Amino acid sequence: PIPMVFCETCGWQPLPEDQLPLLLPEVKSYEPTDTGESPLASLTEWVNTTCPRCGGSAKRETDTMPQWAGSSWYFIRYTDPRCDTGIASKEAMKYWLPVDWYNGGMEHTTLHLLYSRFWNQFLYDQGVVPVKEPYKRRTSHGMILGENGEKMSKSRGNVVNPDDVIHEYGADTLRLYEMFIGDFEKPAPWNTSSIRGCSRFLERVFDLQNKLIDGDSYRSDLETLMHQTIKKVSYDIDHLKGNTAIAQLMTLTNRFYDTGSVNQAEYKTFLLLLNPFAPHITEEIWERQAFGGRVTDQSWPLYDEEKTKEDEVEIVIQINGKIRARVMISRDMPKDDVLRFARENEDVAPHLAGKHELKAIYVPGRLVNIVVKA
Ligand SMILES: [Zn+2]
Repeated sequence: PIPMVFCETCGWQPLPEDQLPLLLPEVKSYEPTDTGESPLASLTEWVNTTCPRCGGSAKRETDTMPQWAGSSWYFIRYTDPRCDTGIASKEAMKYWLPVDWYNGGMEHTTLHLLYSRFWNQFLYDQGVVPVKEPYKRRTSHGMILGENGEKMSKSRGNVVNPDDVIHEYGADTLRLYEMFIGDFEKPAPWNTSSIRGCSRFLERVFDLQNKLIDGDSYRSDLETLMHQTIKKVSYDIDHLKGNTAIAQLMTLTNRFYDTGSVNQAEYKTFLLLLNPFAPHITEEIWERQAFGGRVTDQSWPLYDEEKTKEDEVEIVIQINGKIRARVMISRDMPKDDVLRFARENEDVAPHLAGKHELKAIYVPGRLVNIVVKA
């Protein structure tokens, strides 16, 4: 309830602090009334009170605070939930606020964002909170829609119950699928065949145990992809791109199968990278393989920027600006070697025959352009 009292003589009066908090009365029925008034209005015993100023008869406010009154500043209270001298202690607010990263549903973007900023700025102006803005970073996740692309609702009959999905596929599959379903900020329709795909992916990850071989470092033919995957998954997690991180892990899994094996070093790193998306199965495999400790206690894998680069790159060879060939070359091939290699290419050489070369340009890793005159 709102702790205000109306007196015919004194007008609206706030309840004295020693009467706070004003609690709701225990009642049998709290059905809405026909008059549109709050259910409290019919509880005359509770409504009738005395004026805190003149002691005469007065009535309590019967409207109650909307749920917004709590949801607009709860994150301030979270900094110090047991504080009984204010909404939170100055020290706690100074330590925790503003919120580093605040995420909510897209449907909160207008109202909740507006109200919570309004409350925070009011409290800041009152000298209650130490920060002008409540959050440093605000993101919104898209809504998961029904399979028909409409918002899930009982009346439309398109509600997917997570408990059913967990029962059929397991919690890891649901979690992985939720991260894989699409861009974080965009709405996405539920898709039953995609969730089966996620389930099959996790089965393949589990079955890699049958292809496990010894090895305490990445094999040379997998090294580049390993470092690329660590880099991509690390970046994507920080930027809420779960879908592309998982796609990269799927690519790596396919590569293990193409290779016919996975070694211990590769599998361990792979499990660490997959763990945020599928915590149960990765811990299970880790324990079965006696890799030591728990996945969650391991350090996040590191990558070497140099080792993320492909050894070979594709370049185009142009003559007078016209593309004549595309070839793979070693990334660190010296310029003179690249130009000689380009001139000798079977699709290029005929266009050079009998012509005068004016100049040759090499943009490393991109293209060769040879300018000729007849
Ligand atoms: Zn009064």
